[in-house]
Amino acid sequence: MNNYKKSRYILHRIYKMFRAKKIRFKFDSNLKKDRYGQVVHDYELDGWLIRLNPLDQPKEGIISTMIHECLHILYEDKEEKEIIQLEKMIYKYISDQQRENFLILVSRRFKRKYNG
Ligand SMILES: [Zn+2]
Repeated sequence: MNNYKKSRYILHRIYKMFRAKKIRFKFDSNLKKDRYGQVVHDYELDGWLIRLNPLDQPKEGIISTMIHECLHILYEDKEEKEIIQLEKMIYKYISDQQRENFLILVSRRFKRKYNG
């Protein structure tokens, strides 16, 4: 599978996970920093909740960060290094249209209650 196809495939797995696991997103500007002073985003597997610090301005952008945290949930056992590689690959190979679609689907996941 080439990188383009692989990126599409993983993106569809993320969308499938959105539906099956009822993933939620939340902004939390009080998320702590790590020992290097880097802003930490996190996720809870139990609550299927991804918390993002809106004050963070990663140079890769918030969409990349969202993809990154989704990948952690999708691939529970993968190491940080592998997750970063996948994140960069997906962000590079998806189209602008796919970026827009991703953002639209994520934005719906900010609702407090799941409406089906
Ligand atoms: Zn990570």
